[in-house]
Amino acid sequence: MYKSREETIKELFPKFPKFRFDQIRKGLFDPAITSWKEVSTLSKDIREKLEESVPFISSELVKAFTSDEMDTHKAVLKAHDGKLYETVLMRNRRDQWTICVSSQVGCAMRCTFCATGMMGLKRSLHAEEISDQYRFWKTFLKELPDEPQRISNVVFMGMGEPFANYDNVKAAIKTWLTYTDLGSTKIMVSTVGILPQLEKVLVDPDWPPVQIALSLHSANQKKREEIVPTTTEGFIKKLIDWSHRYQTKLGNRNHRLTFEYTLISRENDTPELAIELANYVNKTAFDKVNVIPYNPVHSKSFITSDRKRIDAFKDILRDKGVNVTERKTMGDDIDAACGQLALSN
Ligand code: SF4
Repeated sequence: MYKSREETIKELFPKFPKFRFDQIRKGLFDPAITSWKEVSTLSKDIREKLEESVPFISSELVKAFTSDEMDTHKAVLKAHDGKLYETVLMRNRRDQWTICVSSQVGCAMRCTFCATGMMGLKRSLHAEEISDQYRFWKTFLKELPDEPQRISNVVFMGMGEPFANYDNVKAAIKTWLTYTDLGSTKIMVSTVGILPQLEKVLVDPDWPPVQIALSLHSANQKKREEIVPTTTEGFIKKLIDWSHRYQTKLGNRNHRLTFEYTLISRENDTPELAIELANYVNKTAFDKVNVIPYNPVHSKSFITSDRKRIDAFKDILRDKGVNVTERKTMGDDIDAACGQLALSN
């Protein structure tokens, strides 16, 4: 049975007051501190006991990979139970770093183009296994002093469906918002759209105001079911209504809804589907479509749309007044690009 770091500490020190845990969390997220011994706000006795009994970080590095362009790093981490999962660090346009975190080991959503989906779900990650991915990359960057040190953004686009692990994802986000300099608009939860969980966001007073990106991949219900087999009946229609209620309740200038659309040649990149998508987007409260050229996955026969097809698709959307952007592919040479993360464990 998994015991979190804080549960273990509570057992070791049953009389700890609340502020001690705050001191501990501050120490954990202080980039200058790399072990319990250095958490100087705690007494020597406490530090020694923690050093003996509690791992300073929840997972250990198994292997790290760096892309040829040196702008993407991928790490394979091993959890306390031996489960392996991946986490990615990408240089962003502001010359800072974005981390792409995993929320689960594997995934149950089975999106047809995705390597993680082929693994099935092994288990959900615990809150500290998610939030510690930020700490892992901070320590990693310290070893590269010539590189920028700031992690400015977090996206939940690694392994797993974040809304299938709602409570732990929420707890990890709240930890970052309290103990790092990340602002809520710099955190993006990317989801295939589990409707009951999307509804929960609307009524959960504790849900942090982060960005939400919905992986649509097709506005055509039948095509969407082919690409994302967990798509429920009437999903495409119901999402229109949900998006308006979301916008009324939580939306503002900094807090927007985005569609992600993986472009797969001749699967979902035809002019007919582009027109259907544009008409659909205009009925929703989503204000942007971010197209992602498909990243090839071994053993899948899908093909990346060529430049001509990508541009034609984007032009149709633009002509119909849709705000469209394109995600730059990064780290595909180390299988760190979107949809490429997979491990056998
Ligand atoms: S694309 Fe995301 S939700 Fe779909 S199978 Fe892959 S990890 Fe899961």
